[in-house]
Amino acid sequence: MTPSMPTKEEIDRDVEAEVAAAVKSRADLMEMAYVLESEAADRYAELADQMEVHNNHEVAEVFAKMAAIEGEHAKKVDLRPSEGPKRAPWEYRWIGFEAPETTPSEDLHYLMTPHHALILAKVNEQRAEAFYRVVARLAPTQEVRDLAAEMAEEEREHVELVVKWLEKYPEPEVGWDDDPDPPNALD
Ligand code: ZN
Repeated sequence: MTPSMPTKEEIDRDVEAEVAAAVKSRADLMEMAYVLESEAADRYAELADQMEVHNNHEVAEVFAKMAAIEGEHAKKVDLRPSEGPKRAPWEYRWIGFEAPETTPSEDLHYLMTPHHALILAKVNEQRAEAFYRVVARLAPTQEVRDLAAEMAEEEREHVELVVKWLEKYPEPEVGWDDDPDPPNALD
């Protein structure tokens, strides 16, 4: 007899259980938050550099701002840097394959507008918020649940910030990715 495939709800429940199991103590949460926030800061800084390379200063500035925000966030997490995270990020039980706040660079288009950059940032901030919300719901102690809820709130503020920036940069017109002189064009 073939076992039936798990439903999406069952998979979500499994992932949630894994996240909850990985964050048992305050130290676990701090460690994970430190990696999560500093990774986000690094990735945003990297994206800012990439956009500079493509002479897209407007988008570079958006990512540089995000890098600064996440860098501040990482600093607020009271894990002494000398201790450093005990485990590498890929050993964590993340939701999905990437750290919740990591923006996959495959999603970048070299002509990407600030609007697209902000959509990416929004998705990643939402994922970070969702991660902390899961911990806030399922962590074994009240202390960890409260702390995670606080962090989820901060991520929600980041989402709001990005949403505000999005108002300034509405969806560009069709053809935003048309390049009259594409980099791979043959002469
Ligand atoms: Zn954030």
